[in-house]
Amino acid sequence: MSNQNIKTGAVLTSGGDAPGMNAAIRAVVRTANSLGLECYGVREGYNGLIHGDFTKMGPRSVKNIINEGGTILKSARSSEFKTAEGRAKAFENCKKHNIDALVCIGGDGSFTGAKVFNEEFGLPVIGVPGTIDNDIFGTDNTIGYDTALNTAMEAIDKIRDTATSHNRVFFVEVMGRDAGFIALNSGIATGALDILIPEQKDSMEELFGTFRKAEKVGKSSSIVVVAEGEKLGNIYDLAKATKDEFPNFDIRVAVLGHIQRGGSPSCADRVLASKMGYGAVMGLVDGKSKVMVGVKSNRLIYTPIEEAIKKHNEIDKDLLKISEILAM
Ligand code: ADP
Repeated sequence: MSNQNIKTGAVLTSGGDAPGMNAAIRAVVRTANSLGLECYGVREGYNGLIHGDFTKMGPRSVKNIINEGGTILKSARSSEFKTAEGRAKAFENCKKHNIDALVCIGGDGSFTGAKVFNEEFGLPVIGVPGTIDNDIFGTDNTIGYDTALNTAMEAIDKIRDTATSHNRVFFVEVMGRDAGFIALNSGIATGALDILIPEQKDSMEELFGTFRKAEKVGKSSSIVVVAEGEKLGNIYDLAKATKDEFPNFDIRVAVLGHIQRGGSPSCADRVLASKMGYGAVMGLVDGKSKVMVGVKSNRLIYTPIEEAIKKHNEIDKDLLKISEILAM
């Protein structure tokens, strides 16, 4: 069932920004154009819908952005869009611009907004997963994850150089409030002694046991990668508790923070974003709505948006085991 009625689409980026969002915007605009559709860019996420911040975009509006981090449309969190009045204003602006379909690039919060908007006004919507956390169901990877992972890995490599020179123990915090994908994979890639993630129940005793083992095998410096959302405690408390247990350790804490969101997207993210942006427009034209586009085993797939919101990608527990074996 194709949707021949779609003549004009709009694209926005919402929630936390992620490298590769620009490549996705470019793909949406150029795919739409190739099909003879009009395309508007909406600035600052749902705020732009509410305040009528629409710009007509053509293939040349998205030149030279495939390699740029961030999002040229800017992103925002919009509390007004969570109100019925805010969404009504947003729909008025969509009508004013003859918008027949909406592409939302963002995380599960943004998808919830898109779902509610679709249910209230019937406007076809499609979600494109753009978030560095990689925790969205319905796709092997989200846009921005690979870049963030590589940024974390490079930063931890540099920390390792100084850790080794001074026989230090470093606790390194990486992003991931609810998900440990960045921590687990950057930890494996940098040979971390231990990796603490919210999906796994950790204990201080286990961590201390790992330090004791490391001392026994003659490891003189160590890195522990901790996900932002680790349930055992915040990184400073973990470092302090470790210092209390091992007073001879020279312990340092590094919080990588927002560098992980920035930078030029990796090749994998540019390709993924290009596929997904294309897939979003083709999906809408094909009559799909209230779905999220994803890529699994290299194939474009569509998942009902409520499923993408409710379920989460599972962490690979085998990887945790592998990291433990390889750490000593
Ligand atoms: P992300 O998309 O990265 O998960 P957020 O959770 O901040 O980021 O969500 C982005 C935006 O989506 C919110 O600022 C809000 O405008 C919109 N949104 C989230 N939840 C809802 C909801 N229940 N109803 C309407 N809009 C929502």
